[in-house]
Amino acid sequence: MASLKDALLKVGLKETQKPAAANQREKIAKKKVTEEVIHQEQRNFCEACEQIRPDVELYKHRNPTTEAEWICVRCADQLQIADTFRKTAQSDTSIKRMFRREYGATLSPDQIKSPPQGNKPRGPVNGNR
Ligand SMILES: [Zn+2]
Repeated sequence: MASLKDALLKVGLKETQKPAAANQREKIAKKKVTEEVIHQEQRNFCEACEQIRPDVELYKHRNPTTEAEWICVRCADQLQIADTFRKTAQSDTSIKRMFRREYGATLSPDQIKSPPQGNKPRGPVNGNR
């Protein structure tokens, strides 16, 4: 005895098209990649000396002499902002593990709280830039 499905097919109704669903899944994947790329954006402009530097990081400090927050190592040392105020380890110098403060102790990358997206630099970066 013919099932309901067979009966419907006989009348001309077709099953849902699977290729269309596959295409939709691809679109979602593409969007995800774009978002990740945006999170990887690097800041290298020092707001204190207004220069492009390879060792700029975000400092949430309470130093009244400057309103700059994205600061290079040289300026942070000059402004005597302790490394404990540093919130990022995103600069090229940090990624290469060459980040070093003259003023006070330098935090290890593990001590820096990374953004919630979990975009942690993993070892040396191979030629993306
Ligand atoms: Zn600077």
